[in-house]
Amino acid sequence: MQQQPLLPADALAWRRFPAPSPLGTQKDIRYIGSHARGVLNGPETTGMEFWSINPYVGCAFGCAYCYARYTHRHVSERAIDQLEEDSGTAEALLELPGWLSFERRIFVKQNAAAALREQLASRGPRVARLLGGETLLVGTATDPYQPAERRYRVTRDVLEVLAMYRGLRVVVTTKSPLVVRDLDVLARLGSRSRLTVHMSLITMDRVLARRIEPRAPTPDARLRAMRRLCESGIDVGVNIMPVLPGISDSPAMLRTLLRHVADAGVSHVHACALRLQPAARRRYLPFLAAEFPTLAPRYAIAYAEEDRMNERYTAGLLRFMERAGREMGLPLHTLGRSAANEHEGTAPGRQATADSPCADLPAGDVRGNTAMYAPQLELSL
Ligand code: SF4
Repeated sequence: MQQQPLLPADALAWRRFPAPSPLGTQKDIRYIGSHARGVLNGPETTGMEFWSINPYVGCAFGCAYCYARYTHRHVSERAIDQLEEDSGTAEALLELPGWLSFERRIFVKQNAAAALREQLASRGPRVARLLGGETLLVGTATDPYQPAERRYRVTRDVLEVLAMYRGLRVVVTTKSPLVVRDLDVLARLGSRSRLTVHMSLITMDRVLARRIEPRAPTPDARLRAMRRLCESGIDVGVNIMPVLPGISDSPAMLRTLLRHVADAGVSHVHACALRLQPAARRRYLPFLAAEFPTLAPRYAIAYAEEDRMNERYTAGLLRFMERAGREMGLPLHTLGRSAANEHEGTAPGRQATADSPCADLPAGDVRGNTAMYAPQLELSL
């Protein structure tokens, strides 16, 4: 099927956008201002079931399992093409390996709100579907409330535009309590449209979280944010994903996590085992070898042929989560029923990884890309 442009071609062709330019620095992070022709990604463009907006390219939280690193490369290459070779910005983009550049060279879509306003006003047939209630996710490839947002407020401006409409279906996904800053806009948006905030949290273990998500807010900080949002009447779900086999998948850890988020008042939970696409694999497997060396050979086997854990593991995980969630009054939503989060490595067609207490299984239990972690979960079912 031929894709329809969100705006007529002649409405865009005349427009020239400024080249990316330095905006500022924050410790070892450099911010680069960029201008996007449009910020709405339609389902036909992404192959997902939902629309998406990402106010930033790159993400300072630096999660080891993040698959979205590949998105940064394309934008960086385009930016370097637009810049003088010897400009400081081009040099800054070239000086780090790709996986690290994703975390330390953040593009800020300065015109995101203006572009969104214009796209929504275009009233084309595709936009009409969005305005009619198709799901729109804010933050699918990068976190919309990463540290850049404190300074540049692009996400807030985007939400302000969405809050001007009625009848939308909006999901904001983040790991950051900074989302609470925007309670006023979220409340306005939620009074006119269906709004859910998805807080991503894979463990309550602060030390473990620091190893895996080195610059993301602590689990307790995220929990406090969930509580504030819930108390303010906002629908909040929790994304327990990716569940990392052998690392964060023990029934005891998952139950602890579910108990905490249930106490905070969230309405539902998503869960999915790690998937490993090439970009995530290139970062995650070396990380695993350094941080969890006993698991590295097991992952090598489990993910040798596919980018996901075998059916036995994934089905066992979902059964466990469904049962444990039900006990705590937390329904498990599936990706099909409720759009979840792409950048956690769970999007359709994307990759994943895994590892945890099953590390003490005898080596003989590892048989190809199946049966690796399922026994531990099944013991508790
Ligand atoms: S998984 Fe999400 S929060 Fe973590 S680095 Fe990737 S985009 Fe950022």
